[in-house]
Amino acid sequence: MRAHDLVQTSPAGLCCRPGGFHIDPLRPVDKAVITHAHSDHARAGHGAVLATRETLDLMRLRLGENFAGATQVLAYGETVTIGGVAVTLLPAGHVLGSAQVLMEKDGFRAVASGDYKDVADPTCTPFVPVACDLFITEATFALPVFRHGHPGDEVGKLTKSLSVFPERGHVVGVYALGKAQRLIALLREAGHDRPIYLHGALSAITDYYARVHDLGDIRLARDAARQDLAGAVVLAPPSALQGLWARRIPDPVTAFASGWMRVRARARQRGVELPLVISDHADWDGLVATIPATGAQEIWVTHGAEEALVYWCTQRGLAARPLALVGYGDEDEGTGAGTTDGIVVGDGTVVGDGGEAP
Ligand SMILES: [Zn+2]
Ligand SMILES: [Zn+2]
Repeated sequence: MRAHDLVQTSPAGLCCRPGGFHIDPLRPVDKAVITHAHSDHARAGHGAVLATRETLDLMRLRLGENFAGATQVLAYGETVTIGGVAVTLLPAGHVLGSAQVLMEKDGFRAVASGDYKDVADPTCTPFVPVACDLFITEATFALPVFRHGHPGDEVGKLTKSLSVFPERGHVVGVYALGKAQRLIALLREAGHDRPIYLHGALSAITDYYARVHDLGDIRLARDAARQDLAGAVVLAPPSALQGLWARRIPDPVTAFASGWMRVRARARQRGVELPLVISDHADWDGLVATIPATGAQEIWVTHGAEEALVYWCTQRGLAARPLALVGYGDEDEGTGAGTTDGIVVGDGTVVGDGGEAP
C-alpha cells in the first residue's frame, strides 16, 4: 500500500478511494467525513456525513436539519470500517468536536489533520499526535514569523485595557465558532467574572458550547442598555466591527483575536486598536513539533503557506509536497483561499486569509 493508493486529491478535495469517501469535500459528494464544523470544511448537501457528535450538532445549527441525507456519529477513538479502510477520529484541539481522520489499510496509516492546534484550549479536547506513515497537515501559519505566544498574556492585554479604560466598551472581533467561546473561557480563567455581551450572530453556537463548558454570565448586546456596555467586553463577528452595529458601544476600543494579529499591517488595515494574537491553528513551532511527533515519512501540506513547510520537511529528509487545494478560506468573510487581503512577508511570500477562522 502506498500513500496514493489510500488518499488522493480530487476536484472535491481529499479523497479516500478504497473507502469511497471524501474528507471535508468542497462540493456535494455521496460520502463525506467532516473534520469540524467551520463553514469551509463543513458544507451542506452530502449524501452521508460521518463526524463527531459535536461536529454534527454544530453543522445542524449552522446549516439546518436537512444538511445531509444521512449522518453517523463517530466518537474520538472509535473505529468504523468503510470499504476495507479502518477510519478513526482523534482530537484535533481546534474547536469543539474537531477531529483528525486516521485511515488505515493493509498496515498503512494516513492521517488528515483538518485544522489543529497543539496548545491548551479550555473549550475542547486536546490535540494528540497520531503515529502514521502519511501526515496531511494544515499550514495556515506555516512561516517562522508566526509564533502565537501565550493566550493568557494576550487576554491580559484585554483585561488591562478594561482597567485602564473603564468607561469604554471593548468590542472584540472573533470568529463565531470556537474563537468566541475560547476567548470567553480564557477571560473566565483570568478571573473576569462580569457579564460578557454577544452580537446576536454568536449566540446559538455559544449556547451550544455553554452546555458543555461553563462560560459564566453571557448576555445579548442588543438587550443591554448603552451604559451597561461601558467597560464591558462585547464580542462580535469581524464583519460587524466597523459597521452600524458597533456604534451603540460607548467610545469603543476595537480589538480582534486572531493569529493574523501578529502582523501589524493587518491590524492597522482593519482599524484594530488592540490586536490579540490568539489562534486556533498551530503556529510555526507547533507545526514543526507535530510533524516529527507523528513519525510520518511522507508529509502533504495544505491550506495556507505550503512552501515553507514543504521546504522544512525536505531539509529533514521527509518526502513532502504541497496539495494546493483551493476553497478553504476565512469563514466569516467569505474570501475563499485568495490572497487579495494578503501581505508580503520577508522573502516575498504572500500571506493571506488562507485559513478560515484563524
Ligand atoms: Zn477550522
Ligand atoms: Zn480550515
